[in-house]
Amino acid sequence: MNKKWFLVILGLSVVLAVLQFSGKTPAVMLVEAEAEPRIRFGLFWDSLSVDSGSIKSGQTLSHLLDPYGITPGKVATLAANSKDVYRVTSMRQGKDWWLASSLDSVPEPLWFIYERNNTDYVVFSLKDTLGARLGSYPVDTVYRRVQGVIENSLYLDLEKMGESHLLALSMSKVYDWTIDFSHVRKGDTFDAYYFQQKVNGALVGMPEILSSSFTHVGTEFKAYRFDQGDGPDWFDPTGASLRKNFLKTPIEFGRMSSGFNKKRFHPVLKRVKAHLGTDYAAPKGTPIRAVGSGVVTKSEYKANNGNYVKIRHNGTYETQYLHMSKRLVKVGDVVKQGQVIGKVGSTGLATGPHVCFRFWKNGEQVDHRREAFPPDTPIRSEKMDEFAEAVKQLEFDAEYVLNLVERMGN
Ligand SMILES: [Zn+2]
Repeated sequence: MNKKWFLVILGLSVVLAVLQFSGKTPAVMLVEAEAEPRIRFGLFWDSLSVDSGSIKSGQTLSHLLDPYGITPGKVATLAANSKDVYRVTSMRQGKDWWLASSLDSVPEPLWFIYERNNTDYVVFSLKDTLGARLGSYPVDTVYRRVQGVIENSLYLDLEKMGESHLLALSMSKVYDWTIDFSHVRKGDTFDAYYFQQKVNGALVGMPEILSSSFTHVGTEFKAYRFDQGDGPDWFDPTGASLRKNFLKTPIEFGRMSSGFNKKRFHPVLKRVKAHLGTDYAAPKGTPIRAVGSGVVTKSEYKANNGNYVKIRHNGTYETQYLHMSKRLVKVGDVVKQGQVIGKVGSTGLATGPHVCFRFWKNGEQVDHRREAFPPDTPIRSEKMDEFAEAVKQLEFDAEYVLNLVERMGN
């Protein structure tokens, strides 16, 4: 017995001596031991032997655990014990997994980790109490400023700057009712602050615009993100929603004289002719207002329309104003909602002074009074001070932007 122990100790001494004179000096091992222990999925990752992969077509938890000696019976128990936390049948092809075993000479499988998405994972315990817990990677919020001049399109120019195309989507979402991004011009400029979540060093989710200025053909459109209690929305400096609805009529105090009617008896032609517009009678010279912001695409005289103007508002809507006595805008002009674009008249096919207002949706003429538009709630009066303060800060103080991000807890 004593002799046996003597031999074991002798053997160990020889091994240590060999180690000391080999490249693997214990000093290196000490340095490694002093390093911060690496924690991943809430586990001491360096004290585990890890296999990993991604789920292949048709692979179930049983298939994945079988090579590690976990019996189908044990997998069934694991699935049953975990079902309130995570249903193992929800695992999807292509998702990553890790199997962590002990570092023993005969490794014992301890944990199976399944990554549900960019931020969340499930840790299954394979030893003793079979079960699962949910976990999330730490999420950071980064904030950035992006400035540029349009050369081609917002999408291409942002891409050239190394920004994600998602940023172009976020910006067009903010300006959906203000600027038609499929028709921005060379020389248009943008300057925006945004924030985005970062997980494991990679940006995830949609970038969110905090504040933005977009100058389209010399006209600046500002947007500020603010939450007045019903979720974040974007507002112009006056507190009006950027998701602006159209004005109800192109003429203030205009009287509707003829509605949208596909079977209308035409007073001049004396026959049934669809009336794909809404007429508003008003004295000659009454100002006609653009019902929404946009770009003038037509400003000309035509036999039936007389002097008329057509405006493109966004990728979906266009409006047209007929029979003007005078046109005050030209093709390519950027107009703001409410801007006077012409004067009431009776040029073209008209019995008396009125404006025939036509509303186009995806290239089709529709009755604007029957269209359902998204809500465009402005900043409520009791929130106005808070909004004004936020705008002031967002305008100039980048540091405030950072604080705001933290306060919003995104
Ligand atoms: Zn008409």
